[in-house]
Amino acid sequence: MRHKLLTSLVTLSLITNLYGEEHKSSAQIMQEALAQMEALVAKKPIKVKESSQEVNNTAFRLGKYGTFKFEKANDNVYIMHGPVVGPNKENQGFMNNPAIVESQNGLIVVDPGGNYNVGKKILAEIEKVSKKPIIAVFNTHKHGDHWFANKAIVEKYPNVEIYAHSNMIKVSKEGEAEVWYGILNRTTENLEGTKEFAFPTKALEDGQEIEIDGQKFMVQHPHTAHTDTDLLIAHMNSMTLFLGDNLMKGRLGSFDDSSSIIGNIALLENIKKETNFKLYVPGHGISGKLDETIDPFLNYLKVLLKEGKIAYKEDLEAYEIKDEVMKKLPWMKDWDAFQNNMPTHLNKVLIELGEQELEAGSSEE
Ligand SMILES: [Zn+2]
Repeated sequence: MRHKLLTSLVTLSLITNLYGEEHKSSAQIMQEALAQMEALVAKKPIKVKESSQEVNNTAFRLGKYGTFKFEKANDNVYIMHGPVVGPNKENQGFMNNPAIVESQNGLIVVDPGGNYNVGKKILAEIEKVSKKPIIAVFNTHKHGDHWFANKAIVEKYPNVEIYAHSNMIKVSKEGEAEVWYGILNRTTENLEGTKEFAFPTKALEDGQEIEIDGQKFMVQHPHTAHTDTDLLIAHMNSMTLFLGDNLMKGRLGSFDDSSSIIGNIALLENIKKETNFKLYVPGHGISGKLDETIDPFLNYLKVLLKEGKIAYKEDLEAYEIKDEVMKKLPWMKDWDAFQNNMPTHLNKVLIELGEQELEAGSSEE
């Protein structure tokens, strides 16, 4: 499995070179320049005509977390970086990184957000970037904080295609959507209208390439990393890699039964070795260049594995070593949910090491 992943990422990096900046045709460059001009023109009236009061009234504001809007992050790519915390009443369940890829005739949205009401506000922010119609949506994985806002997009654009990994669609329909609805319902109070889920409509598989209105995407399915439903989405025109929750910065999420911390480490190490994108976008936290985005989370997981292996040999439990491990992660102390989630992750590492030993034992027989 690991070998397959490596092979597919090597392919990814080869294609990366094919569509790299230096190989752009002059027509492509012209097209991008035109699109940027259009975006500039589209933005102008907002600044000129609206008073600051009006801007405030229409801003997407979430209490102490401030005001949220899309910002240009790469060529034709705009990202709204959500609050780097778990879902709560004040952030109304908005805490992910919705993104827009602008093509000549429309917009392609990645992970529109965590519920119908938040989705409507994000739609209003999308329209401030461009009035072009939304022509496609990608969902990175099964967790509702990333895709429940599909509902608001489908309401406005009933024929929009929503892409996700085949297993994401399957398990979401089989009950994972309900599980996430329950999690968000316990922590926020604005889920009205979310329950009739807008599931993705187009199943993608590992290694598939899709072209939407001149924008090339390549997707990879890491079989076991954050979950077994994830897609890494590479936007080749801009050289942007959307990692979903296989990468986080500034907060920790959860690893469920379908996930693998050891798999997540292998994935991020391969990405470090084999890829050279201009922009890496985590599921939560600020986007950036390769090392600044990947290293903190990868180093965290590697410390867990290293300390976990020592504990496993000595037959120690996670709670017995968590304070020592915490001291080895000084750069993590301000990350949201660190105190609560780190011991759970450590425990998950010990479970995975136990499973590895069992597998090794049974293959020797
Ligand atoms: Zn997630």
